[in-house]
Amino acid sequence: MDKKEKTTNEESESIEQLLRPKTFGEYVGQDKIKNHLKLIIGAAKERGESSDHLLFYGQAGLGKTTLAYIIGKEMGVGVRSTSGPALEKPGDIAAILSNLEPNEILFIDEIHRINKLVEEIFYPAMESRKLHLIIGKGPAAKTFTLDLPPFTVIGATTKVNLLSSPLRSRFGATFRLDYYQNEDVEKIIKRSAKILNVEIAEEAIKKLAEASRFTPRVANRLLKRARDYAQVNKKKEISGEVVEKTLEMLEVDSLGLEEADRELLKTIMTKFGGGPVGLKTLAAALNEEMDTIEEVYEPFLMKIGLLNRTPSGRTATDLAYKHLKLDKTRKLI
Ligand code: ADP
Repeated sequence: MDKKEKTTNEESESIEQLLRPKTFGEYVGQDKIKNHLKLIIGAAKERGESSDHLLFYGQAGLGKTTLAYIIGKEMGVGVRSTSGPALEKPGDIAAILSNLEPNEILFIDEIHRINKLVEEIFYPAMESRKLHLIIGKGPAAKTFTLDLPPFTVIGATTKVNLLSSPLRSRFGATFRLDYYQNEDVEKIIKRSAKILNVEIAEEAIKKLAEASRFTPRVANRLLKRARDYAQVNKKKEISGEVVEKTLEMLEVDSLGLEEADRELLKTIMTKFGGGPVGLKTLAAALNEEMDTIEEVYEPFLMKIGLLNRTPSGRTATDLAYKHLKLDKTRKLI
């Protein structure tokens, strides 16, 4: 990585930090989840104990990591962060667990990607705060058990169905984060614009929110690009027109579809007569991973009614034809 790229990454990371809500009050929407969490945290604090282990699942960018840090702050404890793929060997998780301070939070992103060997020493640690270690190999191997301080695991995943059931059952509470309401996305944009100290017109907020895929991270990303556009073009504020130009430049349309989303729909329409087409066939036609199609593209396309999943495969809806201005008679090219 060259120096310039590094500085840009560091800058965007610090903006990310700046925009991240620090308290439940700043965290927009998801009221049911917030109330439930406040209850769990309040009760644990009153008892002077660590909270139950908690699991968050839902699409990327909906605020799972943010919640973990808010909980840390509310509980007055530190948060250590790692991810499933980073825990390759049992020794990796052992090193982290044995260094935890009492009541600390261990945040594990992409927890569905923890491997089996790591899981095996992780269960007893979560359940009874015991770390069973094996030192050495073969007949000379020795096992010993280390007592751990109280701690809370907060897991985050986009694919809860891939979590093994023993791991899932170690969590005291599981929360599903859903897409945000449009008005909540608007509030997030307003809040972020204020933090970034940039003027933004009401019309611009609406347009940005509509293109944000009901996802806070996308809303912040589009806002930052619109801010850049306004700055470079010497505009005093982010106007509706600035947003339109920014979205055009990013090839994001009014519904928030990107090139890859449009490509997926067009492929169903033109190559498979509008569907139904099986996931595997679609993935091959798009030269894309099945997982990416299922996890990244489809949930949003289904949410806005452009795609259906049927038992016999994926179909493009009438609305999709209308949005992409494609005539159904042209579908078999
Ligand atoms: P995830 O862990 O689910 O991928 P993050 O917690 O990293 O998502 O959230 C992405 C960004 O979106 C955060 O940096 C934060 O600025 C913003 N964000 C997420 N949820 C909210 C919310 N409820 N209110 C305001 N901003 C949010």
